[in-house]
Amino acid sequence: METLGLIGGMSWHSTATYYRIINEVVASARGGHASAKIALQSLDFEEVRQCQLRDDWDAAAALLTEAGQRCVGGGATTVAICTNLMHKVAPAVEAGIDVPLLHIGDAVAAEAARNGWGTLGILGTRWVMEEDFYAERLARQGVGAVVPDAADREAADTIVFDELTRGIVRDPSRTRYVDIIRRLGDQGADAVVLACTEVGLLVGPADSPLPLVDSADVHARALGLLALGSSQGVEGT
Ligand code: GLU
Repeated sequence: METLGLIGGMSWHSTATYYRIINEVVASARGGHASAKIALQSLDFEEVRQCQLRDDWDAAAALLTEAGQRCVGGGATTVAICTNLMHKVAPAVEAGIDVPLLHIGDAVAAEAARNGWGTLGILGTRWVMEEDFYAERLARQGVGAVVPDAADREAADTIVFDELTRGIVRDPSRTRYVDIIRRLGDQGADAVVLACTEVGLLVGPADSPLPLVDSADVHARALGLLALGSSQGVEGT
């Protein structure tokens, strides 16, 4: 079995989700006491958050690259960044390690392709919605994207950082997210990607007027399959 390197802690609430899902995938495939081999580097999210707020992406890239190198030092043969936003620095991390990085956008695009969804609404933090790096990664696999308007983007971002990354889950925030998802449908989205790894803790398929792609779920499942030696989780068909 391959050893997975996880750069996590952004926030730890979603890294816990990754840890659980990866192990569930491995345990259900192998049975017995099988569990995943994982080299986890869990960062102090306060340090990462301060880099984001200072717009110091070079410092953030250094934190994540060094963490990736420590994963490789711990035996990882593939590394993953357990957040959507911090894929903004994925090119630097990829350049700084000598093993492949399994990009979250590829797992999301593969899930869209499997379901025949040509356009995804992107719902996450402001950089993920406002900059090109995420939508471009989806576009590489032929998946189009729409994003919420400015007021909805601000609400979505505020709920992530004031609540979800602190482990706070509130009903009014769920209602706000569901309204945004509905409007993304009006804009032509076939489905919505929960492009923040904590949003699945707030909104699930039963709440949503549109189908959802939970980025943490599909990324973690792809990693679990990879640990077992399959690339199925990042292939669209
Ligand atoms: N976990 C979040 C994401 O998937 C946001 C936290 C962060 O990385 O800043 O984008």
